[in-house]
Amino acid sequence: MIREAIEKYLQKHNYSRLEPKAVLFDMDGVLYDSMRFHARAWQETASSRRLISTPEDFYMFEGRTGASTIDELYQRTFGKNATDEEKENIYRQEAALFVQYNDGKPMTGAANVLEKVKEYGLDRVVVTGSGQLSLIDKLECDFPGSFKRDKMITGYDVKYGKPDPEPYYMGLEKAGVTAPEALVIENAPLGVEAGVAAGIFTIAVNTGPLPNQVLLDAGANLLYPNMQSLADDWDCIMKALVPALDAGSH
Ligand code: MG
Repeated sequence: MIREAIEKYLQKHNYSRLEPKAVLFDMDGVLYDSMRFHARAWQETASSRRLISTPEDFYMFEGRTGASTIDELYQRTFGKNATDEEKENIYRQEAALFVQYNDGKPMTGAANVLEKVKEYGLDRVVVTGSGQLSLIDKLECDFPGSFKRDKMITGYDVKYGKPDPEPYYMGLEKAGVTAPEALVIENAPLGVEAGVAAGIFTIAVNTGPLPNQVLLDAGANLLYPNMQSLADDWDCIMKALVPALDAGSH
């Protein structure tokens, strides 16, 4: 299954080989078990302002910038975008609630994936639409030696945000690699779309409540139920890359 996924990826992009040198990690729902707190904070923020939303919306919106999420809610409620001031106030409200609710727990299995990635000598970059400094600043502490502050793309760096490929293009640049020299690990449909649009082999981990099909429809090249199962399969993924290299060079 892994081999087939790699072959399909290579054919689609007309690449001769997939030779990862760096792994681009999404943050919420991948490195941190934080999405349910974001969903709760967004939901409460939205209802306090009578913005139309459902709990699933915030899992579907995940990866967008805060401003883009707020515009979406404004469009469906009022038929227009929010002003800059409204965006600032609403995002501040969501961020404050998130900090209040978030228990800061890393995602189960994330440290094991990082160990595997290091074992294979692959560089690590965080690519998140989040502007939550409460988590961004904790990365170095929770995953010692895994991430450097200068190897992070956050909501402060991007203009468009996911599902635009922009954040992942920026991640490739940070890592100094091309698309077929990277892997993306994502949990959100829009994040998967962004990774795929950037031409990067994108591994989805379904750590939230959405059906698997949503992530597959977004274009995920591989799908795992959680980070631990990805860590367990990492050797197989790396092994599956070897024949692809052979095939590419002949
Ligand atoms: Mg995420």
